[in-house]
Amino acid sequence: MIEELRETVCRLHAELVRYNLVAWTAGNVSGRVPGEDLFVIKPSGVSYDDLTPESIVVCDLDGNLVEGSLAPSSDTAAHAYVYRHMPEVNGVVHTHSTYASAWAARGEAIPCVLTAMADEFGGDIPVGPFALIGGDDIGKGIVETLTGHRSPAVLMRNHGVFTIGESPKAAVKAAVMCEDVARTVHVSRQLGEPVPIARDDVDSLYDRYQNVYGQRSHR
Ligand SMILES: [Zn+2]
Repeated sequence: MIEELRETVCRLHAELVRYNLVAWTAGNVSGRVPGEDLFVIKPSGVSYDDLTPESIVVCDLDGNLVEGSLAPSSDTAAHAYVYRHMPEVNGVVHTHSTYASAWAARGEAIPCVLTAMADEFGGDIPVGPFALIGGDDIGKGIVETLTGHRSPAVLMRNHGVFTIGESPKAAVKAAVMCEDVARTVHVSRQLGEPVPIARDDVDSLYDRYQNVYGQRSHR
C-alpha cells in the first residue's frame, strides 16, 4: 500500500513541472496512507528530476519522519496539520504558482467569474492568513479557511497556494485549475472588471460538475 502511494505521489510531482506550477524545488505533493496515521511526502530540496518512489518519505501525523533516508519537505508541518484536522482529506499540494501567488501577494480572493471556477471551486478561491513556516500556523490557516468552504484551494497571503483533495491526484488537479483560473481572471482584469456569476448559477454549476460530470468510475 505504502509502495503504491509513494509511486503515485512521486509521479504526481512531474505534473507540477508539466503544468508549470513550480520553480526549482518549491512545490510538493503528499498523500495519506489509507487506514494509517501516516502520510508520504516529497523529501526536502530534491529536484523533481531526481525524485524516485524510494526517495519519497513517510511521516506520522505530527510530521515526524517514520521511514526514509532524506529529510521531509520543509512544508511537512503544514501538511501534517491538515491531515490531523481534516479526516476527509487524503491529498495535499503546495505550490508558488505564478498567477495564484500574485493574487496571494495582494491578499485578494479570486472572484468566481468563470464557469470553470464554479465547477471546481464552487465560488471564490479564498485567502488565508499570513503565516510563518515551521510551526502549525500555516496548517491552522489552511484548515480555518477551508473548513466549511467548497473551495479545495486557499491562497495563503504573501505566500502561495495550498490545495486539498480526496486523493493526491485530486489535490494536484485543484492546484492546476487554481493557477489556470488565477491567470484567466488576471488577464480579464486588464481590460475591465470581470462580471460575477449569480449565486444560484454558481450553485447549479457546482452541483452538476461535482455529481454528474465525467466518468463516475474515475472519480
Ligand atoms: Zn511555500
